[in-house]
Amino acid sequence: MDRFDVLIVGAGPAGSFAAERLARGGVRVALFDGRPPGEPKACGGGVTSKALKAWPHLLEAVGRTIDELDMYSPSGKHLHLELDEPFAVYSRIAFDTFLRERARDAGAQVFTEKVSARGFKQTADGWIVRAQSGAEFSSEWLVGADGANSAIAKKLAGPLPPAEMEVAFGYRAPLPDDANAATVVAFLPKWVGYAWAFPRPDHISFGIATTQDAFDHEALDKLLWDFMVSYYEGYRTGSGSDRVSPRSRNATMKLWKQSHGVDSSNAQQVRDDLKKSAERYAARIPGLEPRTWDKRRACGEHWALLGDAAGFADPVTGEGIYYALRSAELFADAYLSGEPLNYERLWRVDFGRELQRASQMRRKFYGNFWGAPFTERMIEFARGHRGIRKILGKLVAGDQGYTNLKKKLARSALKPL
Ligand SMILES: Cc1cc2nc3c(=O)[nH]c(=O)nc-3n(C[C@H](O)[C@H](O)[C@H](O)COP(=O)(O)OP(=O)(O)OC[C@H]3O[C@@H](n4cnc5c(N)ncnc54)[C@H](O)[C@@H]3O)c2cc1C
Repeated sequence: MDRFDVLIVGAGPAGSFAAERLARGGVRVALFDGRPPGEPKACGGGVTSKALKAWPHLLEAVGRTIDELDMYSPSGKHLHLELDEPFAVYSRIAFDTFLRERARDAGAQVFTEKVSARGFKQTADGWIVRAQSGAEFSSEWLVGADGANSAIAKKLAGPLPPAEMEVAFGYRAPLPDDANAATVVAFLPKWVGYAWAFPRPDHISFGIATTQDAFDHEALDKLLWDFMVSYYEGYRTGSGSDRVSPRSRNATMKLWKQSHGVDSSNAQQVRDDLKKSAERYAARIPGLEPRTWDKRRACGEHWALLGDAAGFADPVTGEGIYYALRSAELFADAYLSGEPLNYERLWRVDFGRELQRASQMRRKFYGNFWGAPFTERMIEFARGHRGIRKILGKLVAGDQGYTNLKKKLARSALKPL
């Protein structure tokens, strides 16, 4: 039986990043992932500028940098944001392969197979883990980086109730014939969450992220189709002409208005074309309740959880890649310093409190503010106010927390333009 110091289950961003850092520190690491080649993890692939600043080598992965963003309020009001700090959008195949290869180059042994859901048992000196092929491996430490449905987390930290999961679903669809395809984030009317359009080098990722407890698949799928049709319609019609000009930089989408109406013939054509090409995907994102952050542990004697497996995603936006990478880094630091159990303290101090505050903020963020949805007010104010646009830009960059967001926006709104 092969023996390792650390065995990591899951080679998403969290698992591969931890494997790379541990292997560079001289640790014998095994990294397992059974995802079939060519099957991407369901994800928008957006990586904030906060993450790009922390780990500039991420820019070496093939992706697209975004320095302009179109935002829409729940009533369809438009805001064009020029970002001081660009973010990046990656295909998850490209991003995950890039990180996995770095782990391999650093000396981690990578196994392209699944670990059986019940195939790990604790022994006196660590763990014995069984892969689906039947082969067994032993290690001193077991790290669960196996994502939102982590079997390891269920066993070691306990299962999360459905109310603490968010749902994200969407479609991968062709890029319009325009190198400058718009990047869009649109807050949903009457629902918690938002829709996005993230153009990548070879396709666009469309999606909706929302809470699982209020999930109504039929209504939300219809909303997303209207969003996608409106996105492409701009490219086909330009400003009213027939299928000639690409969407101009200033053309806006007519959002959330078509749900009750009948498609124009052009929109119908877009819809029919999309039906032939769009590939659907769906997955869950952890969205922990405020009190769960106090109770739930991410490590114990000879085990640790990273990224989604530990529940580390922003409960307001569903952003999880930064936290996957940061938790991997903190665990590797703790392990390499000879005090792996210190990881629990490190993640709590580093980002745990901020994520807990975000989950306390979730209801407020999607609730009311000065008599209208907060997100409506935020876009409305930002349209006429540079200071608010700056705060919004920082929020997108990952540099603005939620705790003082309302206060900052309100203060900014009261300052002269
Ligand atoms: C639709 C959608 C859109 C999203 N958009 C964004 C976004 O734009 N930006 C952002 O920051 N976050 C986004 N997220 C969240 C983000 O995808 C996750 O937070 C992030 O991928 C977590 O990384 P991870 O390494 O912890 O887990 P994952 O990326 O889920 O990786 C887990 C890996 O473990 C493997 N695995 C699972 N079980 C086993 C097993 N038994 N044996 C071996 N391998 C196993 C899986 O194959 C997978 O490769 C989105 C999520 C969804 C669902």
